[in-house]
Amino acid sequence: MTRIFLVGGGHAHLIVMEELAKKRRDDLEVVMATPSPWQYYSGMLPGLISGRYAEDDCRIDIRPLAAKAGVRLILEPVAAIDADRNMVCFADGRDLGYDLMSLDIGSEINAGWLASLSDKLLLPKPIDGFVAQWHQLLDRAKAEAQVRLVVVGGGAAGVELALATKRALDSASVTAEVFLIAGRSSVLSSHGARARRLATHALARSGIMVIQERAAGSANGVHLSNGQTLDADYVIAATGARPASWLELSRLSLDEHGFVLVDAAHRSASHPNVFAVGDVAARTDVTMEKSGVHAVRAGPVLARNLIAASKGESLQPYFPRKRSLYILASGPGTAIASWGALSAEGRWAWRWKDRIDRNFINRLKV
Ligand SMILES: Cc1cc2nc3c(=O)[nH]c(=O)nc-3n(C[C@H](O)[C@H](O)[C@H](O)COP(=O)(O)OP(=O)(O)OC[C@H]3O[C@@H](n4cnc5c(N)ncnc54)[C@H](O)[C@@H]3O)c2cc1C
Repeated sequence: MTRIFLVGGGHAHLIVMEELAKKRRDDLEVVMATPSPWQYYSGMLPGLISGRYAEDDCRIDIRPLAAKAGVRLILEPVAAIDADRNMVCFADGRDLGYDLMSLDIGSEINAGWLASLSDKLLLPKPIDGFVAQWHQLLDRAKAEAQVRLVVVGGGAAGVELALATKRALDSASVTAEVFLIAGRSSVLSSHGARARRLATHALARSGIMVIQERAAGSANGVHLSNGQTLDADYVIAATGARPASWLELSRLSLDEHGFVLVDAAHRSASHPNVFAVGDVAARTDVTMEKSGVHAVRAGPVLARNLIAASKGESLQPYFPRKRSLYILASGPGTAIASWGALSAEGRWAWRWKDRIDRNFINRLKV
């Protein structure tokens, strides 16, 4: 019997469970530890914030999937890992051993320089915490009939969250000033020129002010790199990913940012019985964006590799595509599709995104 420990209920691990549910294996004991029974799909978060989706449209209940896959579920976060001793540790001092371990714990929001905002600051991860904070914000804004909101981060998440929050506040008849601090290179800097233009127009149409500066937290809002201060009732940080700090003590090889170094088969560079997939992983051979697309696509490869590793068989690589398709909600019922240098906006793009996202959720609902 080989014990496989799945740490985190992220996208790739859901797919591992989907594969195990198709064919139960008597030679494997599979355990998963994750803090919440719910796994949210971040691609649908803007739709949830804007009021387009209900919570159950955007999240998967891990419990029935685990039961179907024969996976023992521990609904607690892992506090530490000792990869030299093959041990997973919990906050109450319990240790559990493993033969093979896989990490799919995602990432945290990299927002240290906004920390002085304390309770004005909203972090989109973990998503369930953000959704609860957003509902409180909306209730307070409705009570006061006005709000000033700053979103920091000009990437896809920042653009979509600025648009979604503005739409929700407008629909609730709140007088809302929404600013997007996009950095010196402005919005969607890693996308093509047309996608950047389309996003800039969508933000302007919604009445969102884009500021091309960098920001740091202050007591009342944000300091901008041009020396000005922008007061805000709330600040949402969509400022990229950082790894969980407890990985530093795991004895796993990490990259310079603290993400787990893995080879093309997503096996740890230092510990051959450990795998890591999704945001937490850093490939030694290619640069891969921290995006749900890779966490999902690497899932079937991870499932096969865990089974192969349990039998001592050879592993398969995961080849990330050179370009990934991103579809960003840009307005009520419209979206921008961006693929390399190509992009276009329309209702068809929204319907496409909606179908992809709903299919992913429905496929994993048991
Ligand atoms: C607002 C926003 C919108 C986004 N939109 C998109 C998009 O449209 N398309 C796209 O491709 N990407 C998008 N992303 C990026 C995407 O969210 C991540 O790349 C993706 O979630 C990574 O998947 P994952 O499986 O690595 O981790 P996650 O989906 O974050 O899952 C990690 C899991 O591990 C669990 N966990 C965390 N800590 C522990 C612990 N200590 N012990 C045990 N379990 C733990 C968590 O509870 C969670 O279940 C967006 C990100 C944000 C912030």
